[in-house]
Amino acid sequence: MLYRIGILKGDDIGLEVVPVAVKVLKTAAEQYSDIKLELTELPVGYPSYLENGETLPQTTLDTLKELDGWILGPIGHMAYPKDDAKAINPHPILRRQFDLMSNIRPAKSFPTVPALHQNVDVVIIRENNEGFQPDRNMYKGQAEFMPTPDMALSMRVITRRNSDFVARTAFNLARQRGKMKKVTAIHKNTVFKIGCGLFVDTCRDVAQEYPDISFDTMVVDTFAMNLVMRPQNFDVVVTTNMFGDILSDEAAGLVGGLGMAPGLCVGPDYVMAQATHGSAPDIAGKHIANPYAMIKSAQMMLAWLGEKKGDHFAIRAAQDIDKAVESVIGELKSVTPDLGGRVSTEEMGDAICQIITGKKF
Ligand code: NAD
Repeated sequence: MLYRIGILKGDDIGLEVVPVAVKVLKTAAEQYSDIKLELTELPVGYPSYLENGETLPQTTLDTLKELDGWILGPIGHMAYPKDDAKAINPHPILRRQFDLMSNIRPAKSFPTVPALHQNVDVVIIRENNEGFQPDRNMYKGQAEFMPTPDMALSMRVITRRNSDFVARTAFNLARQRGKMKKVTAIHKNTVFKIGCGLFVDTCRDVAQEYPDISFDTMVVDTFAMNLVMRPQNFDVVVTTNMFGDILSDEAAGLVGGLGMAPGLCVGPDYVMAQATHGSAPDIAGKHIANPYAMIKSAQMMLAWLGEKKGDHFAIRAAQDIDKAVESVIGELKSVTPDLGGRVSTEEMGDAICQIITGKKF
């Protein structure tokens, strides 16, 4: 089976963690002669701005249309020139243009990694393209504006289509994981009676089609507290854009921080591996960034494509990556400083590759 994958390194630590994730992906795929990876590197971010005068060239967008999916490294858009329309933040455009409605963000604890909780294995599915996000929730124009110098308005968008898609992503994942077989929809319909009301009602409608998965709902503030106190009680959580953005970082904080926070953006046609963390300019160039989040994001992409194409070799290769990562983090010998180790980003990736090739799971 052929997989056409784009590689977009992004900014700062993206230049370090993305090549490591690609190396792990290639190593895992090479173990199965039936998997063919066709990798295409494409310009994006500040390096592209310096070379091509824009952070997201049209050629990159055109090429992505021909691919199955891609890896997008973190984007340091806060440092882009503010007065140049060609220095845009690429990832909202990619998420919107390719209809990547669901953002899947797992938070998993490892016994060896110091964390606030153990035995955590929760996945938060965040709607990706609407909600309060003013840079992508309108067809034209921005959903944030100032009618007077002393008043700011932000508009929130919720649609049945996107709510339905993220709910289905959540129920399918709960079924596939086969753990607690439980989906929890997070909302604030006590206040946002219409917006959150539509979201929860849509999730409830989808739940009818999954009688094997239990479904409940929780108000966002109650959930935020429960997530901190008893994260083990949750399996798959689905929510609107901004709640999901905040809660998934909170979940990452419970299990060891942003280096441990992978993510996958999915839509009906495309998939984009994108870790939750930013470009970490404070540690860029030091080769100490934890590559776990990026490697795991790439692993999720391979598993997703394998499921989509019904390719059990790709699914097995993705499982191999998981086992190798667990083994390296379990031993804590070859991990980056944020996990208490002393090795570089690249050395941690090499340790994972060695386990994959030696198949010493
Ligand atoms: P950040 O996530 O880049 O960094 C926050 C803290 O976490 C920093 O101390 C950093 O060193 C640490 N960290 C992040 N990833 C790590 C890793 N893999 N290993 C070890 N430590 C890690 O957030 P920020 O500093 O607020 O933002 C920096 C830039 O990234 C900004 O331009 C911001 O807009 C952008 N950003 C991009 C994304 C994205 O591309 N998805 C997400 C968030 C922030």
